[in-house]
Amino acid sequence: MLSRIHQFDPKRIYNSYKDEIDKAVQDVLSQGSYIGGEFVKSFEEELASYLSEDNEYTVISCANGTDALELAFRAANLKPGDEILMPSHNYVSAVEMAVNMGLVPIWVDTAPDAFTIEYRASELVRYLSSKTKALVAVNMYGMSAQWQELRNFCTQYGLILIEDNAQGLGGQLRVDNQLRKLGTFGDISTMSFFPTKPLGCMGDGGAICCRKDSPYADRLRRLHIHGQEIKYQFVEPGRNSRLDALQAAILRVKLRHLSETLGEQARVAKSYSDALAIVDSRCLTLPTNGIDLSKSYPSWHLYTIRVKRDLRDKLRAFLSDQKIDAGVYYPVPMHQVECYSSISSSHSCVCKRSDELSEEILSLPCYAFMEEEEVARVVAAVIEFFYN
Ligand SMILES: *Cc1c(COP(=O)(O)O)cnc(C)c1O
Repeated sequence: MLSRIHQFDPKRIYNSYKDEIDKAVQDVLSQGSYIGGEFVKSFEEELASYLSEDNEYTVISCANGTDALELAFRAANLKPGDEILMPSHNYVSAVEMAVNMGLVPIWVDTAPDAFTIEYRASELVRYLSSKTKALVAVNMYGMSAQWQELRNFCTQYGLILIEDNAQGLGGQLRVDNQLRKLGTFGDISTMSFFPTKPLGCMGDGGAICCRKDSPYADRLRRLHIHGQEIKYQFVEPGRNSRLDALQAAILRVKLRHLSETLGEQARVAKSYSDALAIVDSRCLTLPTNGIDLSKSYPSWHLYTIRVKRDLRDKLRAFLSDQKIDAGVYYPVPMHQVECYSSISSSHSCVCKRSDELSEEILSLPCYAFMEEEEVARVVAAVIEFFYN
């Protein structure tokens, strides 16, 4: 009997590095310091050097990627009533944390031929008001946003640029002929270590990255531990949002192997792109369409195709019948979610491209240590759907 091919399968990474991970867990258990301590500190340092060899960045770990966004908004000094530009095609975390802090989300449409936020200044200016303070961009599915253009826009209008890199860790973008890791493009960048993310732990985890010399670094370091400068010296109200030592120890192992696991995902993505190129582009658009793969290296967190509207749900059901899970990330754009749409201000636009995307996107299974036969099964099923 055919076994089901899941959207993600993080256990394969565990099985591949089982001995190292088991030992790391055992080390924490027997060492006795379970919150904070050496494992967390070492992980933060190793991740900072992974992100930039120049040692210019610092990483502050926290409890999850959603908290990371809240901490970023606080460190950026955003205040109730401030307006914050963010993608309408997105996961819920950014808007949720913004609204919880009394910030006003301004929905920005998706860029043409991309999954990421609109980046052309001539379009973005329409969303501005005297209250606009920040812009959030997301490396959606692990594909880079247009960071150079977004940076220029934010500099010109005095906005803080926040990078939600929950899906992009390990991806890269070539800027001025230099390859830079995603997660170093925001004034403040956030990450999630949810198990299925590019670097996943075995529970919840998150982190924030910023330049060492930025005004945000010291604030972030205290905000996530009750606003303490040193123990019991409370400088400002903060949060309790910490990464466990156990998760840090597991993440250190997985970080050492990250280039291998991401290489595995890139291999799957390439197999899909090569094999599915024969399907009529009026029916199916590949995620690589419109991106220059010599400049932009996705993490391949998700391999997301666009399928002509009336066919998407049929293809998804067809795959499911063949025991293949294909997900929709995300089925409802944020500007259509009732509890949030009512809060946004008049500067938000209609976000037509995000609406279209939500009806056309479908993410094929793509994970490290997916077997050749499994990839072949997915390819064959997609092709059969379009040619029968
Ligand atoms: C997963 C994710 C988050 C939230 O991360 P958690 O660790 O689950 O809180 C935020 N933003 C994006 C784009 C994500 O994909």
